[in-house]
Amino acid sequence: MTRMFKTVAAAAALATLASGALAQAAFPGDKPITLVVPFSAGGPTDRVARDLAEALRKPLGGGTIVVDNAAGAGGSIGANKVAKAAPDGHTLLVHHIGMASMPTLVRNIPFKVETDFEYLGMINDVPMTLIGRPSLPANNYKELTTWIGQNKGKVNLANAGVGSASHLCGLLFQNAIQVDMTTVPYKGTGPAMTDLIGGQVDLMCDQTTNTTSQIEGKKVRAYAVTTPKRLAPAALKDLPTLQEQGLKDFQVTIWHGLYAPKGTPADIQKKLNDALKVALKDPDFIKKQEGLGAVVVTDRRVEPAEHKKFVAAEIAKWSPIVKAAGVYAD
Ligand code: ASP
Repeated sequence: MTRMFKTVAAAAALATLASGALAQAAFPGDKPITLVVPFSAGGPTDRVARDLAEALRKPLGGGTIVVDNAAGAGGSIGANKVAKAAPDGHTLLVHHIGMASMPTLVRNIPFKVETDFEYLGMINDVPMTLIGRPSLPANNYKELTTWIGQNKGKVNLANAGVGSASHLCGLLFQNAIQVDMTTVPYKGTGPAMTDLIGGQVDLMCDQTTNTTSQIEGKKVRAYAVTTPKRLAPAALKDLPTLQEQGLKDFQVTIWHGLYAPKGTPADIQKKLNDALKVALKDPDFIKKQEGLGAVVVTDRRVEPAEHKKFVAAEIAKWSPIVKAAGVYAD
């Protein structure tokens, strides 16, 4: 190689390096960031993602952040889309407890929760509520169990597909009361809520981020909360816990986290995590979430390593519960 050729090649290599560094330094630059929600628009995960998109906009430089509802297959289509996306920080996933329950609940998912993602930090914890269609002839949990007993084989239960949070909660509920119900899957509990309000399905277990305003507006009947303690928002505070109603140990709390595809550069991950930390302190975001019964994460789970540890612990926690309940799906 002549000296001149070497110099040109070295300069070209330097230029490539410099432009790569610049591209990263400028992240996110002009290119929009997409938050993939693995459920339909109008549901609770969508709600969290849209509020988060707003809170992330400023700390990420004021550019465009769009929400993409890649719904279906209990949340695994959207998760898989992000697992296979370019690892450049522009395609992110907002997902819930399904990241921990899906690996046991559904035996064949096309991605690996532990190794196909970079963990960017957790967003919130959200209780669930057991709700019913407005025409259901049961005024409280006790009357509900009587009605279920009188209608064995006829009761149906909406959910967001196999592997979703509502699926998990519904399965645990059926198991706890030892009654089989017909499950009706939707691409998210947004459309499931429309059918519940319309009386096409009987029951649903779903996050308070979707149910609070419907309970408040008396559009649905509310029977219980899935947390060990009663909740604070006015519309929910009189609801008993399922534990109080005799379902000893019944406890499901949904949580949401933010993920990037595996291989996303470390400096971009850091920028995203820094932005998430700012978003989680945004008073407007906190107010919106708290009003819907959700608790914004303030503990160490906002750190990616702790987020990853928490998900691993949740997989370990749910696996024996799901197995003992015998509630897998293929
Ligand atoms: N709440 C849903 C679930 O059951 C998902 C959603 O629509 O956000 O997993």
